[in-house]
Amino acid sequence: MLELSVACLAYVLHGEGATLPQKERIASVVINSSKNIESLCDEVYRPNRYEYIEKLKYGQIKMPARADILKNEIIALKVIQNKTYLKYNYHYFHDDRIDPRRNPFRLPVKEQVGNLYFYWPMIILKPKYIRALYLGYKNIHPFDKYQLPHPRHIQFKVIASDEFMGLFDVEPMRICISKTLCITFNDVKETLLHEMIHLTMYYSLGYKNYDEHSKDFYRLVYKVAKVYGLDNKKI
Ligand SMILES: [Zn+2]
Repeated sequence: MLELSVACLAYVLHGEGATLPQKERIASVVINSSKNIESLCDEVYRPNRYEYIEKLKYGQIKMPARADILKNEIIALKVIQNKTYLKYNYHYFHDDRIDPRRNPFRLPVKEQVGNLYFYWPMIILKPKYIRALYLGYKNIHPFDKYQLPHPRHIQFKVIASDEFMGLFDVEPMRICISKTLCITFNDVKETLLHEMIHLTMYYSLGYKNYDEHSKDFYRLVYKVAKVYGLDNKKI
């Protein structure tokens, strides 16, 4: 079954991606859109899903050389075995024949790799989602013991900064997350946790230098990273 999945994925990688970074992201699209690794072929042959596959199906292009497919099978196998696709949360992509400003998927967050644009599946980032995440984190370990403010006392804002992933202000108390830099759900989560640590330093622990990345700040980062199984460098 895995062999078949690898073969199907290889055809998409061959036809749709030119470089390895593109192929890795395309693989993530195929795998994320599929029920599981075993059923990748269903996804690959889904009607009107991948242009190259459609053209092959209808004989509009000739079959690729066996050597090209073999090369891409190796990439496909590596992506599956190393779980590279987990790094990306993409579900859609298109090439530069479509202007991304037309926003064909109605999804604002994307990454450009060469001539390809990749889209994140999350619904448009809204303040109410950040608020909901905040409320969850506030009430569970390790933040629960710090008695953080109720979300009604905090303004949650989505910004379009290409300088800061997130910001924490005190007057008024505000947490901002950049939709430009937070590409994946993990980015949003890690950025929110980062800002919540600033908030904890300020609100619960009374640090004057709450906005600095001090030793005490990092002590909290390690604690949070451990609880949530995250990379502490990313928080
Ligand atoms: Zn910071």
